[in-house]
Amino acid sequence: MGNNQISGNEHIVKDLGNNFPDGEKFFGLQNIDNICYSNSIFQAFYNCEPFKKKVLEYKSNKETKDNPISLLQELFQEIQFSKKKTGVCSSKKIMKYVRKGNPDFKGENHQDCHEFSIWFLNQMNDVLNKKYIKSKTNPNPPPKNQPSWIEEIFGGILTTQTTCLNCQKITERDEPFLDLSLDMNMNSSLTNCVKKLSDIEKMSGDDQFFCNTCNSKHDAEKKILIKKLPQTLICHLKRFKYDDRLNRMIKLFWRVAFPLGIKLTPNYVPPDQQNKQDLHTEMNYQLNSVIIHHGQGLSIGHYTALIKKTDIWYLYDDEQINKIQESDYQEYFGSNNIPSCAYMLFYQQKEDD
Ligand SMILES: [Zn+2]
Repeated sequence: MGNNQISGNEHIVKDLGNNFPDGEKFFGLQNIDNICYSNSIFQAFYNCEPFKKKVLEYKSNKETKDNPISLLQELFQEIQFSKKKTGVCSSKKIMKYVRKGNPDFKGENHQDCHEFSIWFLNQMNDVLNKKYIKSKTNPNPPPKNQPSWIEEIFGGILTTQTTCLNCQKITERDEPFLDLSLDMNMNSSLTNCVKKLSDIEKMSGDDQFFCNTCNSKHDAEKKILIKKLPQTLICHLKRFKYDDRLNRMIKLFWRVAFPLGIKLTPNYVPPDQQNKQDLHTEMNYQLNSVIIHHGQGLSIGHYTALIKKTDIWYLYDDEQINKIQESDYQEYFGSNNIPSCAYMLFYQQKEDD
């Protein structure tokens, strides 16, 4: 990480030789003030083709000069349109905006890259949805009838179904998401964590459900179903958990195996069509970026990104980029003896071949 080691990543040109992919760029990002958390996220964003395309196409003007989309565009342009194939860039201007907009990211503390990622995406999305958001200067916004391109790329929908055990009536609530936060099981797999979302949860005792049909509180059963899966699925493994006994946040090193390709199908079925299971088409995803957390806990550690470009995997560690073997990704499934494990996974919908 030392600044005196900046290589400009020319070794990638040498390593790949004639196999250097056409038009591809390999740029590391400078780490000033412990920003490995945002550097890793920006690399994963840059590696998400549909997202990169939209950011580069974004029409900036004087008015939009300092919004998160045009700032990210500036960084992407610097990489994309550089005359050089490799190098190192700085995200200083974006980080100035980030620290002004969210005091949580001020200073040099180690941060939660997932919190950063979702905050930044929401900031960008708010810019695109500005005309639909009620504010002092916009007291009567028009109804929103179309998803923004951020929602088109990353947006999915979860539906919570709650069944009142007194009258059997099912109440539904849709929750749009830009990434999927998943609880983990010890020694499990990503598919397992996605399935776990839909586990039935009993609501009883203090947690009883207020049923509008019965007009009173009753025991109920709740489950979360996937109504819509996005084009690009960002999965966040909940590795940081508050431990009541220790009275602090702890990191779960549990092994969660994740595949290079995954097939998922939404499992939502409307209450009146419970006999129809095949309402949805299967989505075929390909893993193309992984954010790794190295270290013992949330307040201390380091982030890097595994980035796949034209079938080869690279490890992006701030300024440095190095080619790795494809099978190396398995080292980051998680294990109690290894402090480095996958924290966020970016799956891209596979184009039909
Ligand atoms: Zn009821």
